[in-house]
Amino acid sequence: MRRISIFGATGSVGANGVDLIRRGGGVDDYQVVALTGGRNIERLAQMARDLRAEVAVTAHPELLEDLRAALAGSDVRAAAGEAALTEAAAMPADWVLSAIVGSAGLAPGLTALAQGGVLALANKESLVCAGGLLRRTGQVSGATILPVDSEHSALFQALGGESLDSVKDVTITASGGAFRDWPLERLAAATVAQASTHPNWAMGQRITIDSASMFNKAMEVIEAKEFFGLAPEQINVLVHPESIIHAIVNHIDGGSIAHLGAPDMRHAIGYALHWPERRALPVPPLDLARAGSLTFRAPDEIRWPALRLAREVMAAGGAAGAVFNAAKEQALDDFIAGRIRFTDMSPRVEATLDSLSAQAGFGDDPDTLQTVLHWDALARQEAAA
Ligand code: NDP
Repeated sequence: MRRISIFGATGSVGANGVDLIRRGGGVDDYQVVALTGGRNIERLAQMARDLRAEVAVTAHPELLEDLRAALAGSDVRAAAGEAALTEAAAMPADWVLSAIVGSAGLAPGLTALAQGGVLALANKESLVCAGGLLRRTGQVSGATILPVDSEHSALFQALGGESLDSVKDVTITASGGAFRDWPLERLAAATVAQASTHPNWAMGQRITIDSASMFNKAMEVIEAKEFFGLAPEQINVLVHPESIIHAIVNHIDGGSIAHLGAPDMRHAIGYALHWPERRALPVPPLDLARAGSLTFRAPDEIRWPALRLAREVMAAGGAAGAVFNAAKEQALDDFIAGRIRFTDMSPRVEATLDSLSAQAGFGDDPDTLQTVLHWDALARQEAAA
């Protein structure tokens, strides 16, 4: 039986992963090792009971007693805190879904990678902060990293194992998020509630706001560079409001291969779960007649300065990715808490990058978790409102 773990099981991606495991045979076909969550203790406990997990972990030590109480009478062990997350990631598993939000997903992801097996990576922050470290860790253990982000799963599928030598460049699409058609002068007054609605995808709040600001796409450009080993200038972004085409691979011979599908994360998660096979998934069929037309436009870097910042981060190298991500996470916290405006986020991230770069540069590509966390802490401090 396949041993699987899901980190961030109570979130949007994680819960879709749990749903696929349930529909795909549940406890008859999968041995669930660890399920983890944060504050949503009832949901975590229910999932762990249903799937007879060996351990359920909350990231928050103060919630351990609540988790124990919610698991009373079951065989599921309860644990809490960062160390417990890492211990759970060290438990042997064949397939691990990394779906914690933010750089908190890096340590468990790295630990899981060091055990071998398949790491299905939704946590794009890991690749942005520490792409080289992740790749090297996977190479040493023989682990396989599979993309779960829909655009990167789409690229992976469109590439179909072909050599990058025949690839001229690639395009990942962006819906444009909540404010795609807003007049620029309205953006400064955008509220958290307005930024937290997405036209096409049902996702967690943070990535939904990042879609409105395009920080999500900026992160995905860096993710594509790190995952596929592409040069920054080979990665294009195209605004595609219908979110039907997720990515396109443009070959040197003039042929382009696109990946299409309904905007439903269960496709990318399920693809990574069953890879290298394909299995039927509970995903709405593609209905192009209903879509009617597919439209595209070039991204506007005045509306979405995050895209320009991503290119600067890739050019800077070293720890710039870790700084970019942490400054973005801090600016997002401050926007959600009402301390800064929507349009303050990009300038805040840019100022953090400029300031830390001017102090000592971004050094070499971080080669330990501690180095990444050091830069992460520096950037959060610098970016805080
Ligand atoms: P959610 O906010 O919906 O879920 C995040 C998960 O992480 C929850 O289980 C949450 O627990 C847990 N969590 C939050 N903070 C911590 C922490 N400090 N330590 C440990 N666990 C924590 O996020 P999404 O599912 O939307 O996104 C997850 C990841 O997948 C992100 O990296 C995102 O960029 C990526 N992704 C998401 C997509 C989507 O469709 N949602 C698409 C592509 C990529 P709890 O809720 O119990 O507090």
